[in-house]
Amino acid sequence: EGEVVLVGRSNVGKSTLMREITGHTFDTGQRPGVTRKPNHYDWASEDFVITDLPGFGFMKGTPEEVREQIKTDVVQYIEQYADNILAGVLVLDGKAAVDIIDRHSGPDEVPHTVELYHFLRDVGVPAVIAVNKMDKVDNRDDRLDEVAERFGLVPPWKQWQDVIAPISAKRGTIGPLNEAVRTHLHEAERDDLF
Ligand code: GDP
Repeated sequence: EGEVVLVGRSNVGKSTLMREITGHTFDTGQRPGVTRKPNHYDWASEDFVITDLPGFGFMKGTPEEVREQIKTDVVQYIEQYADNILAGVLVLDGKAAVDIIDRHSGPDEVPHTVELYHFLRDVGVPAVIAVNKMDKVDNRDDRLDEVAERFGLVPPWKQWQDVIAPISAKRGTIGPLNEAVRTHLHEAERDDLF
């Protein structure tokens, strides 16, 4: 059985998205975003599991070394299971992502989210960028073009709908994500044939 992994900074809406995808409700303490371990769930209506990996980046009350360890664990998990991972979904906060990426970009610095995107590709896992909280974004196309650009994808973003999926987990509008992920599943099946 194949696996789709969900990665992202904390607070981007990963738990909300997990709830939307799986139909589960998570008790406090059981909430995937809070956990430090990978959690596996069935993707409702699909034949694979979805794995929620721990959120990285700033979390109130989390020491720096723990945050670094989480990043390392996420990367190691993906590396270890790359052969079984059908797609890696990188969840972003559409309202905040571009600012955060720009703040962490410099001559010797690549933002972790961007680094993860390239890492997924390096280990042969198709990456999907789920741009969440789009309900809070006004200039939708401009924002999505900016996101595309930050990941080295030449705008317009609409050329990249198998990679960039604008969603609102809170509103339950995640169709573009389902479609993008499905594109890569079919690619995997086709690769098996040839
Ligand atoms: P996690 O830390 O990544 O698991 O994030 P959560 O799922 O706990 O969400 C963090 C905050 O963002 C919560 O207040 C959510 O209600 C909010 N949130 C999640 N998805 C959306 C969305 O699509 N739109 C808006 N406006 N808020 C969202």
